Amino acid sequence: MIEAVVYDFGGVFMESPFEAVHQMSDDKGHDYDVAVELLLGSYEDDTDHPWHRAERGELDVVSTREQISELARARDLDLDLFELFKYVGMDREVYSPMVESVRRARSRGCLTAILTNNIAEARGMWKAMLPTEELFDVVVDSSEVGMRKPDLRIYQHTLDLLGNPEPERTVFLDDYPSNVQAAESIGMIGILVGTDRTRAIALLDDLLAGGST
Ligand SMILES: [Mg+2]
Repeated sequence: MIEAVVYDFGGVFMESPFEAVHQMSDDKGHDYDVAVELLLGSYEDDTDHPWHRAERGELDVVSTREQISELARARDLDLDLFELFKYVGMDREVYSPMVESVRRARSRGCLTAILTNNIAEARGMWKAMLPTEELFDVVVDSSEVGMRKPDLRIYQHTLDLLGNPEPERTVFLDDYPSNVQAAESIGMIGILVGTDRTRAIALLDDLLAGGST
């Protein structure tokens, strides 16, 4: 029986920032792999890349933008973090079937949480996109707690705030594979959310109904 469900935000309730990097790279003629590494760092790790520092609340967004542009200039590239934000903003609709899945989990008596890597300056925006208070018992924002996925401590922190449900009875949904792997490494049930998010929702419904993945 599932006790708790933990959701990522970007790529789960709204478009993935990685999709935005794809669109921007196509428009500007950048190589995606180079652009994503410069803009968002090696996302499978928690590093001292300026974006990671921003997500841990260590660096403000203006300094982050400057440092990323400097990294890009050293590679003879012109990259602007604020330009990327325009692409992320192209689809500000939340994905309502995912919101409904939270309501179903709650109606079955599960606790729910959001666990997002995000920058402090975006907090007001993303929180306003969802009925956050209604949907989640616990909200963990990397920039508030000074830790970010895939650091295992932030998963444990989330479980602590949920009152320590069994990890084996806690589902974690995220669109980034290494974030899902980290959750699984501490015993949680991971669901990778693909571009077709209906599959992830169906897997979760199956688990909530007592099935197994
Ligand atoms: Mg995400």
